Amino acid sequence: MSSTHASEVIAPTFERHLDTEWSHNALLADIREGLAGPLRQLTPRWLYDERGSELFDRITRLPEYYPTEAERAILSAQAPTIASVSGADTVIELGSGTSDKTRTLLDAFAATGQLKRFVPLDVSEAPLHAAAEQLVERYRGLHVHGIVGDFNLHLQHLPRDGTPMVVFLGSTIGNLYPGQRAEFLGRLADALPPGGSLLLGVDLVKSLDRLVPAYNDSIGLTDEFTLNVLQVLNDELGADFDQGCFEYVAFYDAHHTRMDLRLRSTVDQTVEIPEAGVTLD
Ligand code: SAH
Repeated sequence: MSSTHASEVIAPTFERHLDTEWSHNALLADIREGLAGPLRQLTPRWLYDERGSELFDRITRLPEYYPTEAERAILSAQAPTIASVSGADTVIELGSGTSDKTRTLLDAFAATGQLKRFVPLDVSEAPLHAAAEQLVERYRGLHVHGIVGDFNLHLQHLPRDGTPMVVFLGSTIGNLYPGQRAEFLGRLADALPPGGSLLLGVDLVKSLDRLVPAYNDSIGLTDEFTLNVLQVLNDELGADFDQGCFEYVAFYDAHHTRMDLRLRSTVDQTVEIPEAGVTLD
């Protein structure tokens, strides 16, 4: 085996824990559990098909969607401290998407020479691959290992050697309800070796004038992003949702201090999801 020089581009490697059939069955199970009861809810992971991921990326560049730039500014100011305090040689990013902001952090780690490996994990394969290909060019000598997986199900596959730091940005932990969050954090603690660390990016409660427009932008991208989940259900499960019969509502849940993306039916209607054996009035 030849030794690796810092100037070499190392081809990214990948592992896949979600295949089409597996995802299909997971969606069926989520539909039966989440949509069959009186309170209808669905995990946001189904928002991120290829089109959803693309729409989300556009949302992060809207002026109303302040969290991305706020987080980037914090990372940029604090990255050298984070690198030194964590002492990490491996950065693992959950729900990595395009890993765009993460570059600010990786720059600081790369500058100290301590970074050996970057491990992005996401359910959405296309942005994961694209990011990995770009990152190996930007950081010569860095091993990028992408994991196509679900952070609720596949944390046991995270690397445990070296000194890992898990990065979970963009308030994505808000995709989980409070009880699920506690379980997730417990599983994450179990997955990390002693000396491992977690960098969590979450928003603070602020005035509704800023909060609500971030999730209800003036050009309707968040509407499109949320309504797109109905298309996912039509395509995947042969459902007959008509997007024109729903409206998007960005709802601030003051009790749990979180934003909820909701869809309201605008007419009396019955929707069939044949493959799940579910009929919704
Ligand atoms: N970290 C980026 C992207 C946040 S959007 C940022 O801060 O801007 C949420 C990301 O998490 C998307 O890329 C989506 O595909 C991914 N995601 C959502 N649910 C997931 C799950 N259950 N497991 C893994 N990734 C998930």
